[in-house]
Amino acid sequence: MSEALSYVNPQPASAWGTYLSQVDRVVPYLGGSLTRWIETLKRPKRALIVDVPIEMDNGCIAHFEGYRVQHSLSRGPAKGGVRFHPNVTLEEVMALAAWMTIKTAAVNLPYGGAKGGIRVDPQKISAKELERITRRYTSEIGVIIGPQRDIPAPDVNTNAQVMAWMMDTYSMNVGGTASGVVTGKPIDLGGSLGRVNATGRGVFVTGREAARRLGLNLQGARVAVQGFGNVGSVATRLLAQAGAIVVAVQDHTGTIHNAKGLDIASLLAYVRTSDQHGVAGFAQAEPMDNEDFWDVVCDILLPAALEGQITVARAQKIRARLVLEGANGPTVPEADDVLQQRKVLVVPDVICNAGGVTVSYFEWVQDFSSFFWTENEINQRLDQIMMNALSQIWNKADQHKITLRTATYAVACERILRAHAERGLYP
Ligand code: NAD
Repeated sequence: MSEALSYVNPQPASAWGTYLSQVDRVVPYLGGSLTRWIETLKRPKRALIVDVPIEMDNGCIAHFEGYRVQHSLSRGPAKGGVRFHPNVTLEEVMALAAWMTIKTAAVNLPYGGAKGGIRVDPQKISAKELERITRRYTSEIGVIIGPQRDIPAPDVNTNAQVMAWMMDTYSMNVGGTASGVVTGKPIDLGGSLGRVNATGRGVFVTGREAARRLGLNLQGARVAVQGFGNVGSVATRLLAQAGAIVVAVQDHTGTIHNAKGLDIASLLAYVRTSDQHGVAGFAQAEPMDNEDFWDVVCDILLPAALEGQITVARAQKIRARLVLEGANGPTVPEADDVLQQRKVLVVPDVICNAGGVTVSYFEWVQDFSSFFWTENEINQRLDQIMMNALSQIWNKADQHKITLRTATYAVACERILRAHAERGLYP
């Protein structure tokens, strides 16, 4: 393994380095006999690098590099998305796979964790080239994926259409219809109702419960949101329906502010039709400087855009009492400590945004039984799983006087290591 790929001595600031330090933080809170198995969390179970050659529309042959990492299979088949991005690296995919192991264990789904990626800029290729890349990649990773082995899903720059191609390619290779090999498929091909709203709904459900425990009434609570895409817009709509006042929204086009509250239905309609598909220029609000967003007067802050947004400097000025991490990794580790000192409660990503993988699990279960649930049934089961998970994590945090993030890792790591210890080593 080259130095850049080393999983034992990673670069300290790398995603994999961050993950390792998060695991180190929970060791004191694990049962004594489990720490014996801790190394197992610090290494991916298996990492595959594949060459993805395709014929481009102009007749040239181009090669793309693809990855699929299975971090853990201790609790069940591996589960995690596939991203298409020019900057994807094996090391990043390793960290994302490990975080999936933590997330699936935190909500107690019978899965391990995985992630995949291709180093490609989807903006620079045609739809046909995208399909060829997807199909060849699926064929190459076909040796390790499967409905009982590893189940990919959409992630950055991949969607239901990409999942349909993956499902079809895998199915052609095995000579049957294997709907359960991916989740996030179109409804026609065995996708689940409720999947599109699931992550935002999970953010809302965990946020509502955290607010209740804090004694913060959602009726009239002021909310500031970064990211008004799939996760941010759904969570915001549900918070507004529960009586919250959305005072600021920031996205890639800028920041808008209205201390009296934004009308979310009008904002959603505006974003859909505006030139840049963003919030900038919305008439019923004032534009605001992007940096001023971070000390806007609010009770709940919802980062639902990018990683690394809550830096130490921003953590020092945040006015909210509650931060709901809709995005993956929005808070840098040092800022986490600042928020803790300032008594700002953070519901961490690994539980807050786990609604998406939970409904992916429902999709997989429905595919196996070829019996499909109503959206109402899905939402009820989702709410129940999210509430149970948060309650167990809250108890752990109270018991050890630790943050919800460390408590989530402790609950998840205990489940993973217990399963590993019960299975034992082979041979
Ligand atoms: P999306 O593409 O639908 O929306 C992203 C939003 O972020 C958009 O509103 C965009 O304008 C905004 N944004 C982009 N760059 C920005 C910038 N520089 N400053 C401010 N805003 C910016 O994506 P999504 O599916 O809503 O995902 C958002 C986050 O949630 C990501 O971190 C993703 O990994 C995480 N997440 C998503 C899901 C899911 O099911 N979609 C599940 C778990 C976690």
